[in-house]
Parts: sequence; C-alpha cells; structure tokens
Amino acid sequence: MQSFGFLGLGIMGAPMAKNLLKAGFAVTVWNRSPEKCAELAALGAKVAAAPAEVTGSCAVTFAMLADPAAAEAVCFAPDGALQGIGAGRGYVDMSTVDAATSQKIGAAIAFKGGRFLEAPVSGSKKPAEDGTLIILAAGERELFDEALPALEKMGKKCLFLGELGNGARMKLIVNMVMGGMMTIFCEGLALAAKAGLRSSSLLDVLDAGALANPMFKLKGAQIVQGNFAPAFPLKHMQKDMRLAVALGDALGQPLFAAATANESFKKAKALGLSDDDFSAVFQAITS
Ligand code: NAP
Repeated sequence: MQSFGFLGLGIMGAPMAKNLLKAGFAVTVWNRSPEKCAELAALGAKVAAAPAEVTGSCAVTFAMLADPAAAEAVCFAPDGALQGIGAGRGYVDMSTVDAATSQKIGAAIAFKGGRFLEAPVSGSKKPAEDGTLIILAAGERELFDEALPALEKMGKKCLFLGELGNGARMKLIVNMVMGGMMTIFCEGLALAAKAGLRSSSLLDVLDAGALANPMFKLKGAQIVQGNFAPAFPLKHMQKDMRLAVALGDALGQPLFAAATANESFKKAKALGLSDDDFSAVFQAITS
C-alpha cells in the first residue's frame, strides 16, 4: 500500500486528506493548529509533530496551505518540510501561489535531491469532499505519474501542464476570471434590487440563457439568503486577484477588469469580511 503525507488541513486540505484515507492509503498528517488533526486521526491517519517528520517518513507529501507566505513557512522553517527531504522524496504543493514561490520551493527541494510538483486545484469545498477537483499540475513528470493514484482520489481531472510555474499561472488566471465574474454578478444583484427587480427573477433569467453557470446558481441562492459561510474564504480570493494582477504587470498585459475587481475584494477585507466566503464581496458592493 502506498503511503502519503499531507500538510495543511484547512477547508480544502482536510477533505482531500480524508479521500486518501478512504481510498485505503496510509496517510501521515500535520497541521499548524494541531486540533484539526483529530478528525483525520480518528479515521486512521498518523499525526506528526512537524512537517519534517512527514516528509522524512513518506515517499510523497502533499501540501495545501493558505498562500505564498504559508507555503514558504511550512517548507523553510527549521523543522519544515525541506528538512525531511532526501534523495528521491516527492513534495507536491497544491496551494495556490505565484509561479516564483513555487519555483523557489521547487529549487530548494531539488537541491536536496528531492522531486517537486506544483498541483493547485480548481473547485471548492464540495468538490474537495467529493474528490472531483480539477488538478493543474506542473513540474516533474515522473513525480506526477507516481502521485497520480492519489491525485485521482482527490480530483476528477488531473492535468499535467509542463514546466514548473505553468500550474500556478493557470490557476491564477482561472481564479482571476472567477473573481471578475463574482464582482459583476454581485453588482448586477445590487443594481436589480435598486431597480425594484426581484433577485430571484434575475437569477432565473441568468440561469435560463447563455450566462447560466454552476457558480451563479449556487452562490446566487446563498447571497440572496445572506449565507456567506466560507467555502472559499474571501481573503484567499483577494490573494489570487492580487497575484493575477501582478502576473499581468510582469507580462505587460493590461487587466483593467481584474484590477477593479481586486479593489472590491480589498474593500471587503477592510470591512472585516476576510474569513467569509468570497461571495461576501456582495456586502462591500452594497455597503
Ligand atoms: P484555509 O481553510 O484557510 O486553510 C489554510 C491552511 O493553511 C490551514 O491548514 C492553515 O493552518 C495553514 N496555514 C496558514 N498560514 C500558515 C502558516 N503561516 N504556517 C503554517 N500553516 C499555515 O484555506 P483553504 O480554503 O483550505 O485553501 C487552501 C489553499 O487552497 C489556498 O491556497 C487557497 O487559495 C486554495 N484553494 C481554495 C479553494 C476553496 O474553495 N477553499 C479552492 C481552490 C484552491 P491553521 O489551520 O493552523 O490555520
């Protein structure tokens, strides 16, 4: 039986690690706040005291962490993931970060004789629970092939996109489109309300035509109910918008719509909505 490590048991990491356990793999977990390991331990996971203990005992370790700062902290801390990496060991970072962060971590892992893959995911809490994420991997092809039996338990589609950085860039572009769609959708809902139109009517009209999509359907109903329980925390969406705008900056691509949407998410953070769902940008737009 293959054994895997898993670092980071947040909204996404916990159900992803659970799916590995359910598939019968031996899994060793670690989380900064150790209480989040209890549920996984009850399902049979081994719990480690530090990331180095996980990477030092598992052939392949997955990480699912908040942002570039978290991904670097977990890798480079004195008892971090890098310390446990030896010849041939695999490290698969599934966090959404920028290409430069991913390449920095990848270079450090390679320097110690390890192998690295970035594998950010598209899809939220429910697809993480259902094992139906879309996995955007790039880096070492051999490690992708070796990790595939586990990736296939977490995702319904596992793409290999080539050289390191391509997965990170693809993920940021996808989320930039999503953040832009969410802000214009919320502006539409706000405008409809001011125009005396029923929100439910707008949702029905959108859903009946070419603009229909699962995100408008799911989030629209929740926004109308005032339900902003986090599936994708707003602070992470703003991080992705910020990193996408920076990518546009680096590549000389104007991103007028994305830059404006980023401002709405920044305003939402300033209003204290960081830990709500990213659809809570509606509250910033209507405030
Ligand atoms: P989350 O619930 O906020 O979990 C974040 C994880 O990172 C937790 O395990 C947290 O540990 C850990 N962490 C944060 N800062 C850390 C630090 N400095 N050192 C060590 N650990 C740290 O976030 P999530 O929704 O699971 O998202 C995880 C990643 O997936 C993010 O990059 C996000 O952009 C991406 N993503 C999320 C979704 C979604 O819908 N939620 C979808 C696709 C991609 P603690 O438990 O100790 O705080």
